[in-house]
Amino acid sequence: MVVFLEGLLWLLRFAVGASIFSFLHVVACRLPIGESVVQGRSHCPGCGRTLSAAELIPCISYVVQGGKCRGCGGRIPVRYLGMELAGGVAFVWCCWFFDQGKGGCGLASGGEVICIEGLWGFLYLGILAVVALIDRDTRIIYDRFHIGIALLGIAAVWLFPEHGLVDRLIGLAVVSVPMFVLALAVEGAFGGGDIKLMAVSGFLLGWRAVLFAAFVGLAAGGVYCIVMLAAGRISRKEQIAFGPFLAVGLAAALFWGDAAAGWYLSLL
Ligand SMILES: [Zn+2]
Repeated sequence: MVVFLEGLLWLLRFAVGASIFSFLHVVACRLPIGESVVQGRSHCPGCGRTLSAAELIPCISYVVQGGKCRGCGGRIPVRYLGMELAGGVAFVWCCWFFDQGKGGCGLASGGEVICIEGLWGFLYLGILAVVALIDRDTRIIYDRFHIGIALLGIAAVWLFPEHGLVDRLIGLAVVSVPMFVLALAVEGAFGGGDIKLMAVSGFLLGWRAVLFAAFVGLAAGGVYCIVMLAAGRISRKEQIAFGPFLAVGLAAALFWGDAAAGWYLSLL
């Protein structure tokens, strides 16, 4: 019975995360075109038909309908499912990761859905996901997301006191300042949104982890460009949105940045 309830709790966590990311996907689609994110029911991007409750169950609706709209039969982009799966996994992972060493997140410890640190991490991942989607679609990172990350960074001062204020202030500048200088020297190297993203994230993560994030982001973006150039999908002059790659690097750094940077520094 306890095992069953324990499983149910993890399933609930997955569902909560999937539902929140499903909403964030709506935000990412509607914000750039100026549509309200609270008004207006969810509708098919193809035919505009309002979706029923049965079509709004995260992950399940997409699979049951075979990725097609029930009204017009048009394909629903796979990123709908991708965002919902990512949200479920992110919530479960944050719950588990941030609860390590705190007595566990199972029923025995009171059965809370998620600890405050886990919720903090999940919110950061949520902002990164929206930033990545909107930047990919429009090449813009809105300032409201920088502000959101900055607020999470201020919360981190209390939640994770092991990173001192000096550590965070170095983090604020260690990646953003070189990016800013590079952007001045090479026109269009980075957008202002990318630079601000790395500044506020540097304060949130600390200097070691944000260096790791920049490394992962540059490597991922570089590999993507080489593959796309070789495949003839992009031209040499084309500018790609860098935000999604930085977001991947920052998400990785949230969990492994300190450990990876510590390992690297120990080699020097
Ligand atoms: Zn439709």
